[in-house]
Amino acid sequence: MRCSRCRDAAVLELRRYRAAYCGTCLVAHCERQVERAIAEHGMLARGERIGVAVSGGKDSLALWDLLARGGWETVGIHLQLGIGDYSRHSAALTRTFAAERDLELVEVDLTEEVGAAVPALVEGGQRSPCGACGLSKRYLLNKVAREEGLTVLATGHNLDDEAAVLLGNVLTWSTGDLGRQAPVLPHTSGFARRVKPLVRLSERETAAYCVVRAIDYVVEECPMAAGNRHLAHKAALDALEARSPGTKATFYQGYLRQAFPVFHPIAKRDLVLATCEDCGSPTTGTRCAFCRMTERTRRRASEPTPSVTPRARRPSRLRSSPAAEAR
Ligand code: SF4
Ligand SMILES: [Zn+2]
Ligand SMILES: [Zn+2]
Repeated sequence: MRCSRCRDAAVLELRRYRAAYCGTCLVAHCERQVERAIAEHGMLARGERIGVAVSGGKDSLALWDLLARGGWETVGIHLQLGIGDYSRHSAALTRTFAAERDLELVEVDLTEEVGAAVPALVEGGQRSPCGACGLSKRYLLNKVAREEGLTVLATGHNLDDEAAVLLGNVLTWSTGDLGRQAPVLPHTSGFARRVKPLVRLSERETAAYCVVRAIDYVVEECPMAAGNRHLAHKAALDALEARSPGTKATFYQGYLRQAFPVFHPIAKRDLVLATCEDCGSPTTGTRCAFCRMTERTRRRASEPTPSVTPRARRPSRLRSSPAAEAR
């Protein structure tokens, strides 16, 4: 198989484009797709400092690499979720990536921050592991953004992720979510702007990008993901994509063009944000879902309710910035 652009030996075939790329042309293709997503959706502005949520997986490390090489000013934010060896390995690879490229990295430990890791937040609770984890990530990323003065957070959601989330939202007709699943979630009071620059790239493209760029990423799946509905939706879309290449892109891009404009005004009208009385985060009630979840966890552990609320705590964080240390 030959590269469609330069006729060198190809490393990846992309059936949805009826193309194949060598390593060099694949990297150029990924750069183009990210630049196009950023421009198309007005995601980023030159001169702003971008918080990149970095898990240690292929997507987030590819994203950080692409943004940093594209000349964007970035700071990586890694949340230590306390999911055993998986979390330890993820943190180690993220640190190595940052150190090798002289990039600034902020680490926040969920256990230090709220008194429980993801497995403990789930035990006997009302949320699935991914529900509790997602809530924790949203809360902590937002908190770091506020404390670091970041106006924008970039996440590594790719085309496969977005298409699978969209399928889940359609299957349940979650109209609120269908009106909010955009590649850019604008800044609202208390929430930094959220952007997803990888929405034009599939998992196969980000994985191949990491291989070509010699980025060492966590290959194993999170052990808490087993049985997760999102994976089932991904598998269903994979089967459709194998039969009809381009299905995921058509489904997701068609939603952005045709369905999002219909659902967005409804979601906007129905969303009334207040401020959480415990932590000050935006919420639709009097206390945010994260504070309610962590309180339930503390009660289950029969601990006396700490007098220190999440708002008063300083995040337990490590900062590594080889350049700063050298100064
Ligand atoms: S798979 Fe679920 S529990 Fe694991 S890191 Fe992702 S969201 Fe968290
Ligand atoms: Zn080529
Ligand atoms: Zn709160």
